[in-house]
Amino acid sequence: MAAFTALTVIVVTQVIPHVTLATGITAVVANLVGGITPDIDQPTAPFWKNLPIGRYVGRTFDKFLGGHRFLSHSIVGVVLFGFAFHYLLQVLKPSFPHLNMDVIWWSFIIGYASHLIMDTFTTEGVPWFLPIPIKLGFPPIKSLRIQTGGLIERFVIFPGLMLVTIYFIYSNYDKVKIILHSYLK
Ligand SMILES: [Zn+2]
Repeated sequence: MAAFTALTVIVVTQVIPHVTLATGITAVVANLVGGITPDIDQPTAPFWKNLPIGRYVGRTFDKFLGGHRFLSHSIVGVVLFGFAFHYLLQVLKPSFPHLNMDVIWWSFIIGYASHLIMDTFTTEGVPWFLPIPIKLGFPPIKSLRIQTGGLIERFVIFPGLMLVTIYFIYSNYDKVKIILHSYLK
């Protein structure tokens, strides 16, 4: 949800290049994939649960990583996954000439970064500066942070993000209409 909220806010408030409908849809998918990719290092997270063989593969990963936020939850992780995804898009580019790969890449990164920012507000914190093994969180006092998967996440943060998304769509409705119109022509 945070990934989509971040993408919406950026799309409606910034000057963005005109893209085809195919690029737009692919960018939203890339955004959501980017939003769950950091949890590739957490076997109990949605990333693995949502894959058919995910539970098994996730558990194998768990043995190596201990089920904690690790490399993919750091700046090094952003760079590594950013490069990997960029490479993948370049490989796919000749087969999909109508897609704007730059837009899709940015959309992925926005999703990815929003995940790490949201995790920073949780009790466990985020090891932003790995290999320096310090987990940072906000606010600095742990007890004031949010429990992952807890009631506040489900009943305050999630609906809150939805409201922010709806607010930004409504308050920039003219721009949203222009974007949608250019697709529906
Ligand atoms: Zn995470």
